[in-house]
Amino acid sequence: MFKHMTALPPDPLLGIAAAFKADSNPKKVDLGVGVYKTEDGKTPILTSVQKALQILSNTEDSKSYIQARGNQAFLDGMEKLVLGAGNALLDSGRVESVQCPGGTGSLRIGFELIKRGNPNAKVWVSGPTWANHVAVIKAAGLETAEYPYYDKANNQLKADEMLEALAQLGPNDVVLLHGCCHNPTGEDLTPELWTKISDLAVEKGFLPFIDIAYQGFGVDLETDVAGVRELLSKVPEALIATSCSKNFGLYRERTGLLTSISETSVLAGAALSHMLNIAREIYSMPPSYGGATVGILLADEALTAEWKAELAGMCARMIDLRALLVNKIHERGVEEDFSFINRQKGMFTFLGITPEQVKAIRDEYAIYMAGSSRINIAGVSSSNVDYLADALAAILKK
Ligand code: PMP
Repeated sequence: MFKHMTALPPDPLLGIAAAFKADSNPKKVDLGVGVYKTEDGKTPILTSVQKALQILSNTEDSKSYIQARGNQAFLDGMEKLVLGAGNALLDSGRVESVQCPGGTGSLRIGFELIKRGNPNAKVWVSGPTWANHVAVIKAAGLETAEYPYYDKANNQLKADEMLEALAQLGPNDVVLLHGCCHNPTGEDLTPELWTKISDLAVEKGFLPFIDIAYQGFGVDLETDVAGVRELLSKVPEALIATSCSKNFGLYRERTGLLTSISETSVLAGAALSHMLNIAREIYSMPPSYGGATVGILLADEALTAEWKAELAGMCARMIDLRALLVNKIHERGVEEDFSFINRQKGMFTFLGITPEQVKAIRDEYAIYMAGSSRINIAGVSSSNVDYLADALAAILKK
């Protein structure tokens, strides 16, 4: 059966993580893998999440299966978090969600749903997008194409080109949008662009599929999804894949949800039945632990307030680190303007240096980042920022 199988090349980002681990340079800096880190390089369990976990372990009285669509408190709490507590959609009968294993699992179920709805659908992703998007779309048997998004040479959006490309699309097309904190560029759609894209979706009939993996990491929980909510208020149909990995710090618990918005409640029921059926074919039921934890947290006002404060702290730290990094680089008299880093949001930014410079900074300074020059802002700290700025300045001045 497997005699002819050859090993796949390692995942580039995981390769960088392995190389970082093996590097004995005491000054090494990891700006690669997309995980939030504190000043001392740790990814701790949030205190509010710890407390919810404690409640769960004190009260859970069975390990029998949970209902197929997931933990009800989780689904209710998360729908409110994403759509907004007073959103009229919540009582419209048009919204259905299922708990899935992480944002990735949610995306996969969503693309499988699209495949059942229209096997010839074509999924448009931003150029560039999160590396795994295309793989997940292809695994569901759908065709992908890229719409212009980021101008790497000038560190800005390709807004006009993007709108022109989206204006050519129609009802057989799906447009994958990053809700906020675009991965890998950090460059988000402006409120004006959200309006224009919403209007185009209504006019042309393409399906918006929104990936929300960083709500609360950009500005705050509400501002980060304002554009998404405007779009959802206008379009007849949409899909949303939400991850709790980053904002609840639940990475390994594989916690997320897929939400479908349908034209009518009858169609919403049909979509739900297919989402459940697809999940049944792949993994049957979602894992319980992460969803139950978030469900407890969001149903408890005090824990929710504590979590919001912790999330705001992570967000503020990343905004401060952006400013610190830009200042430190500019202090070293480099010609290039890095102020775009301050405008960008979330955990990632494209430094915009060449692949040769990425290699040089790794070889000469043990500073690790993705080949695209994407850096994880949370990997910067007050103890490594001078070293980082020195290295960057030296590489740029060569
Ligand atoms: N979408 C985007 C844009 C991401 O960056 C990530 C995580 N890196 C995901 C989805 C998947 O998140 P999860 O770990 O919850 O599967």
